[in-house]
Amino acid sequence: MRILIIEDEVKAAEYLRKGFSENGFVSDVANDGEDGLHLALTGDYDLIILDVGLPERSGWSVISELRRKEKEMPVLFLTARDAVEDRIKGLELGADDYLVKPFVFSELVARVRTILRRGPLKQPDVFTVGDLVIDLVRHKATRANLRLDLTPKEFSLLSLLARRTGEVVSRTLIAEQVWDMNFDSDTNVVDVAVRRLRAKVDDPHEAKLIHTLRGVGYVLEER
Ligand code: CA
Repeated sequence: MRILIIEDEVKAAEYLRKGFSENGFVSDVANDGEDGLHLALTGDYDLIILDVGLPERSGWSVISELRRKEKEMPVLFLTARDAVEDRIKGLELGADDYLVKPFVFSELVARVRTILRRGPLKQPDVFTVGDLVIDLVRHKATRANLRLDLTPKEFSLLSLLARRTGEVVSRTLIAEQVWDMNFDSDTNVVDVAVRRLRAKVDDPHEAKLIHTLRGVGYVLEER
């Protein structure tokens, strides 16, 4: 089992590496977010231990980028941030677990083993919502068997909604995952993009599939 540790405090990273090695795991260390993301994208890791406050690129941005690129390896946030909003944000961005520093090493190992036992999240390659079909592997979407002409951003927006069919996807999450923008950025760009997507997906059809929850976000579902 190979673990990637993304942690900027050199001593803490070394402590983690040694601890994992004593427990039979092989691990690599990256000391900033940019290196960490590069290793995560190119290396073959079973799990990532991710700090939030990192130079070059934050832990939030690392996980957003991984999930955007359809990398579904488990991520455990290990951070001094203990606010509930931070935990929620971590999990919303697709983390599998969240542990607050200071921590007991045996608890970290136990959580890592639990996540690894669970195995990778099974994500289907094709999503079907009514007569809308989204094929993530071939990067194409059809509605009523007609191919939709989508820009890459529109496709990734539609994929995000499809992966969470029936769930409200917040504009903030969309901004983070599709545009890699901060929480507080102007989310108007999201509304504009959804409007364009709707024009292609829904406008020509009687049954609407993209729904708005005013002030909250969007849901893709057949009603
Ligand atoms: Ca840090």
